[in-house]
Amino acid sequence: MEFRATRKETLILNPAKGMARRSIPSEIRLDPLTGRSARICHFMELQWPKPDFERLIAGTAKTCPFCPDKVMQITPLFPEEILPEGRLIDDDRILFPNIAPYDSLGAVATMGSIHYIPMTEIDSQRIFKSFNLAFEFFRRVEAVDHPEAVYHLINWNYMPPAGSSLIHPHLQVFSTSSAPNLMRQELHAAQAYLNTAKTNYWDDLVAYEQKDGQRYLGTIGRTHWLTAFAPIGVAGDVLTVVEGVRSTLELTDNDVADLAEGLTRLMAGYDRMGIYSFNMNFFTGAAGDDAARFHLLFSPRTFFNQALGTPDIGALRNLFNETLCMAFPEEINTLLRPEFKQEVV
Ligand SMILES: [Zn+2]
Repeated sequence: MEFRATRKETLILNPAKGMARRSIPSEIRLDPLTGRSARICHFMELQWPKPDFERLIAGTAKTCPFCPDKVMQITPLFPEEILPEGRLIDDDRILFPNIAPYDSLGAVATMGSIHYIPMTEIDSQRIFKSFNLAFEFFRRVEAVDHPEAVYHLINWNYMPPAGSSLIHPHLQVFSTSSAPNLMRQELHAAQAYLNTAKTNYWDDLVAYEQKDGQRYLGTIGRTHWLTAFAPIGVAGDVLTVVEGVRSTLELTDNDVADLAEGLTRLMAGYDRMGIYSFNMNFFTGAAGDDAARFHLLFSPRTFFNQALGTPDIGALRNLFNETLCMAFPEEINTLLRPEFKQEVV
């Protein structure tokens, strides 16, 4: 396993200081598994202004399809061969088909009846129960032997900067035989690693990071939390690997509770930087894939210009799929570590 980085330097003549030469550093890192490159640059302080939430939220409940007065009238039902009862309901959480599917088995799950929950008020119980509702869907599509029941995935876009068109907290839940790009690349690369090294990449990564310590955050049960070496997000990514677990449905209730607990710690940590929005994706192997380890990526999102709604993704990322992170993941680690203090081994 190699953690490769190339340091670069830009020289400019600085008009603010009588055209004195100024050196601006940057770094290009390669993800040790896939070789995907990620740029560390700009080096601004990780502190963003938050919007006026009251103004942002005002009026959005009136037209929200996930609010309790509308959700049972507006949302569609699954056909009886997939889900005889049409929707899965657990207390005030409801799972129904995605009206804008990107695969044949796509669902949306509301995380309860409350329209707006500030990021730091999303507690681990809510996440645990919402994930569990999605897992019930996964078990049901497995039970009917659905051809798409290969990779069971939860994606979470929280708030508009992360791509959510609705304020109401919800999860994207889908089962697919078509692994998404980065997950597919990781699965192939992890298989190649296993073939060559005769060990599991993810086990080796956790062992290395735990020993090295610069990017390791802590352990909760079997879940290992670390800041990613080659992050995708502008404020870094947190990678969580679950020890010994190959695929989504191998996660135990304890694992899911630990994932939920860790996610609330990340939200608390990033909230201090002014972040109020994030993406979170499951990455899973197919059942029995010994090269794979279940992991998730938590990636904070922001607007580069709040007033203009300028996204944190431009041409470099959108068309080259080249990422920018504005601080070293090792520094981001120190900002998040207080949340994990008691668990660091
Ligand atoms: Zn709502």
